[in-house]
Amino acid sequence: MKIAFIGLGNMGGGMAANQVKAGHEVRAFDLSPEALAKAKENGCSTFDTVRDAVEGVDAVVSMLPNGKIVSSVYNADVIGVAPASAILLDCSTIDVATAIAVGEAASAAGYDAVDAPVSGGIAAANAGTLTFMVGGNDEAFARAKPILDAMGKAVIHAGGLGAGQAAKICNNMMLGIHMIGTCEAFAMAEKLGLDPQTFYDIASVSSGQSWSMTSYCPVPGAGPQSPADNGYQPGFAAALMLKDLRLAMEAAETAGVKAEMGERARQIYEAYVEAGNGGMDFSGVINTL
Ligand code: NAD
Repeated sequence: MKIAFIGLGNMGGGMAANQVKAGHEVRAFDLSPEALAKAKENGCSTFDTVRDAVEGVDAVVSMLPNGKIVSSVYNADVIGVAPASAILLDCSTIDVATAIAVGEAASAAGYDAVDAPVSGGIAAANAGTLTFMVGGNDEAFARAKPILDAMGKAVIHAGGLGAGQAAKICNNMMLGIHMIGTCEAFAMAEKLGLDPQTFYDIASVSSGQSWSMTSYCPVPGAGPQSPADNGYQPGFAAALMLKDLRLAMEAAETAGVKAEMGERARQIYEAYVEAGNGGMDFSGVINTL
């Protein structure tokens, strides 16, 4: 299969390499010459424009920073330029409204299209073990699944266009809330004289258990190896958590949902990032409690 891959950054670089490993011809484009050079080393052919990269392809995969960029790339250089037989897969994390608008513009021009954001960070992108949550109709999902399988361990159909993004931000809103709750509990446990590993051993088999604790414990030396054991190097950067919480609060407002804990989590991560910690892992928020 011929696949155009647009956006070869921290996530897209590894994902494109996994398409090469799966035996596909990958036609790569990124604005960054460094990202393109790396893609070339990984076996992709590289192009000077999106329009060149999408010529004659069977699929277009994108992994871009935000909705504005996704919208401009698809509307200016993909829709009407890639063959109408190609399936379009945007894996970026963007707002639900833009995901639906781009998907509908693609559908109107005769394309199958899905929004397919991911859970899992750079390590999972490199290892091909991402989780994909997919929005689009049944036919588009059936076409997208084998392409996504080459980059992930789980590919789940969330519903129609935009449902992938909705699942992603609801999941990450929970994650942000859980992480802050886990940090508060560990900080309090310590002040109350509990040893962190002992508290971990108790809470990880009790009702306070969560992924934030058992897979990603924010305290150094307790639980499994995590960014806390590595000076809070990401991992999942606090700036990306803030991005996702902002998207979640935008969606809550549009949907008329009162998400008080999500809003508080947004405020806490905003303060953490504005204090210069955007590049730290999101579990580093424990150091402010
Ligand atoms: P990144 O900044 O490392 O990569 C984005 C790439 O897009 C860059 O190489 C940039 O040069 C390129 N780009 C920007 N505008 C472009 C354009 N117009 N045309 C072509 N290329 C363009 O970001 P990332 O960490 O790889 O994240 C990508 C997406 O994945 C984001 O939406 C992010 O929210 C999401 N995400 C990231 C993680 C993570 O842990 N990094 C996890 C889950 C989801």
